[in-house]
Amino acid sequence: MLTKAPKGTKDLLPKEVYKWHFIEEKFRKFCESYGFGEIRTPVFEHTELFIRGVGDTTDIVQKEMYTWEQGKRSLTLRPEGTASAMRSIIENKLYSEPLPIKLYYNIPCFRYEKPQSGRLRQFHQFGTEILGSDSMLADSESISLAYWFMKDLGIDSLNLEINSVGCSECKPAHRDALKDFLRDKYDDLCPTCQDRFERNPMRILDCKNPGCQELVKDAPNMLDHLCESCSSDFEDLKENLDAEGISYKVNPRIVRGLDYYTKTAFEFTTDTIGAQGTVCGGGRYNKLSEELGGPEMSGVGFGMGKERLLLVLEASGVEIPKEEQCDLVIAFMGREAKKKAISLATPLRKAGLKVILDTMERGLKGQLKLADRSNAKFTAILGEDEINKNIVILRDMNDSEQREIPCSVEDILNNVNK
Ligand code: ATP
Ligand code: MG
Repeated sequence: MLTKAPKGTKDLLPKEVYKWHFIEEKFRKFCESYGFGEIRTPVFEHTELFIRGVGDTTDIVQKEMYTWEQGKRSLTLRPEGTASAMRSIIENKLYSEPLPIKLYYNIPCFRYEKPQSGRLRQFHQFGTEILGSDSMLADSESISLAYWFMKDLGIDSLNLEINSVGCSECKPAHRDALKDFLRDKYDDLCPTCQDRFERNPMRILDCKNPGCQELVKDAPNMLDHLCESCSSDFEDLKENLDAEGISYKVNPRIVRGLDYYTKTAFEFTTDTIGAQGTVCGGGRYNKLSEELGGPEMSGVGFGMGKERLLLVLEASGVEIPKEEQCDLVIAFMGREAKKKAISLATPLRKAGLKVILDTMERGLKGQLKLADRSNAKFTAILGEDEINKNIVILRDMNDSEQREIPCSVEDILNNVNK
């Protein structure tokens, strides 16, 4: 064999792709029922977009990006969806239409990470963004969409945790208090957190390292430092979620990995799929547009990992319905019958039937086996006799009963759809 797929990537084969179709279709319907429109942006962007948009103190920018030089430009495979969506909004001036802008996406993302269960180098995300609204209704609508989408899929094992990380008014005081608290613990922090100490100390709060977790156990709480606006917004958010009957836990440790978050931060986690238990994470990023050279425009959104979502579905024992593979195999014997089969297949497919012709051109027995394997409801059998009499034998694959019907698109349709 010449080569294998790169580490951390996965082929998606026809026998499992129905699961992806199912969640993708449901997500699309959910987003549209909340008034979101789909955006599709390129898989790669100029590197500086992610350095600015994701933040140069994040793990993503520091060590996870796939970046290369092409001519004089540095390009990067998209590690997440928000920066690209924001770039597109600014470039296409979507903000000149009445606000808010409500977008959703379904995208592959690329991060150079250590592959393990629920962690790949090419993974896939659903996401939404609401731009231009300062109301906490935008935050609760985002959470609501993710929550009811996952509930509707049949997942009951998810915990929603929410927090407020404050804004440029109140963040600095918390940052200082946190640094004062951690200063004499510095030597015991993991090397990554030592690096975060100056650059992004809040991130130390959600370090996965058990040593660091122990050290920050009694760290100053952001919620105690919220300014009036952030504090009343957080109350609003909780009120909105309560009004919808969405249960949540306040967790002051949720800070999210990305630099641009302000106010709301949230995560949906589960303990049913091992260490990579965060299925969905999101929050508000009121400073991102300006950071990227756009107008002042607040935003809120989430990213949901599709691989992790599928792992949770499996762990929860949710059966995803298989797609009907085939309504009809048109079996043919001889040249004339083949021509007839070809001429019938297209109009039947246009009329909505799933129709298979045996491209191996096997004998009748082989074609009936193909019909069995394909779960076909019927096989239409055409031989020289049938062509001469202008009929077709329709075999019900459930009970093997056969009957002769006129050989026309209408007659076949009527009998198959009965
Ligand atoms: P984690 O803490 O697990 O690394 P993250 O904070 O880096 O997650 P986000 O950038 O918020 O993740 O991405 C949103 C979602 O995308 C995550 O909650 C997760 O479900 C999924 N995700 C992130 N990285 C990966 C990956 N390498 N493989 C599979 N899914 C991923
Ligand atoms: Mg990560």
